Amino acid sequence: MTNQQWVERSDKVIMKTYGRYPIVPVRGEGCRLWDADGKEYLDFLAGVAVNNLGHCHPKVVKAIQEQAATLIHCSNYYQIPQQIELAELLCSHSFADKAFFCNSGAEANEAAIKLARKYSREKHNNPERYGIITAADSFHGRTMATVSATGQEKVQRFFDPLLHGFAHVPFNDLAALAAAITPQTCAIMLEPIQGEGGINIPSVEYMQGVRELCDRHQLLLILDEVQVGMGRTGKLFAHEHFDITPDIMTLAKALAGGAPIGTMLARDEVAASFTPGTHGSTFGGNPLVTAAAIAAVRAILEEGLLNRAEEMGEYLHGELETLGAKYPFVKEVRGIGLMIGMSLTIPGGDIVKKGHERGVLLNVTHDTVLRFVPALTVSKQDVNQMIQILDGIFKEIQA
Ligand code: PMP
Repeated sequence: MTNQQWVERSDKVIMKTYGRYPIVPVRGEGCRLWDADGKEYLDFLAGVAVNNLGHCHPKVVKAIQEQAATLIHCSNYYQIPQQIELAELLCSHSFADKAFFCNSGAEANEAAIKLARKYSREKHNNPERYGIITAADSFHGRTMATVSATGQEKVQRFFDPLLHGFAHVPFNDLAALAAAITPQTCAIMLEPIQGEGGINIPSVEYMQGVRELCDRHQLLLILDEVQVGMGRTGKLFAHEHFDITPDIMTLAKALAGGAPIGTMLARDEVAASFTPGTHGSTFGGNPLVTAAAIAAVRAILEEGLLNRAEEMGEYLHGELETLGAKYPFVKEVRGIGLMIGMSLTIPGGDIVKKGHERGVLLNVTHDTVLRFVPALTVSKQDVNQMIQILDGIFKEIQA
């Protein structure tokens, strides 16, 4: 089967929820993917910050193979050792005391929204306390509650009526946030760095100010680390850069080395609002994916990948700035660790397509921001190769 043959079959049976490129990845290793035509790609997208360990990390592969041969089962009516071990691992490296497991980022955010509302209503004995303030340009998922939380009209269009109780304010604007708080507000929900919004980095003062506002008004701070967590920024969790802790944090994407998982973590007092029968998910935290996640988290911590993300992030950032300085359509390079955006004065779609032709997987978010989120294992050689290809594309565009 060639790429083209797969595309033709896809057109007949797959819903067009994504604008897909005519590339059919069939094999991956480290920072490289191969498609059905046998073409090799240097992967600077990593499934959008999913394959932080690179493709098919041997320890993740082994954990999945061993678990698959032992028990593929999921009933949350019983205890699940892999789930417990993963929760212990995540809690011992974060502010959190307790974890809830699910299957995706949206599902983790759904859980966060439900927990925040239930906790706040109970704690303040006020049924009206359900409001959640999120940021303009935020992205929290595609389910109805997370679409309502998301601050992008294009994500919400056609799906109203949305869930009641969400307010959106400009990101990185503390005065606007403070002004939006009402007696109904129960939580503030933010990405520590906005991903789909165009790689937007808030100031330390803003994030610390948000924490203070939450403390002053007894609001919960929910941080969505679905895209930026798991070592991407050079710290295990991005909020560590701002020297704050949330009350609730969500993770997904890179947590299980590429396998589907989500989690919602909270402090004990908050977590206690979820009692038997209040929330759940059949597949959430099943042994197969939690075994993969244990291997993935250990690999991030034990293989020096946090330092590597920082070092390679600096290198990539520097190379992108040098490249960008040569071209008037490059506005800015911004990022922390290996979460980097290059904002352009022109749409980035053609650059991505030209990248594909030349064997590098690039991505554009928010129309004009090239997003660079390779595996944390990316090498200088990989960066140099990508930069050379990008330089060629930029030259062509300028001509
Ligand atoms: N939150 C953020 C910050 C995300 O970037 C995404 C996915 N792009 C989601 C939530 C939704 O995750 P999922 O697609 O796994 O539901």
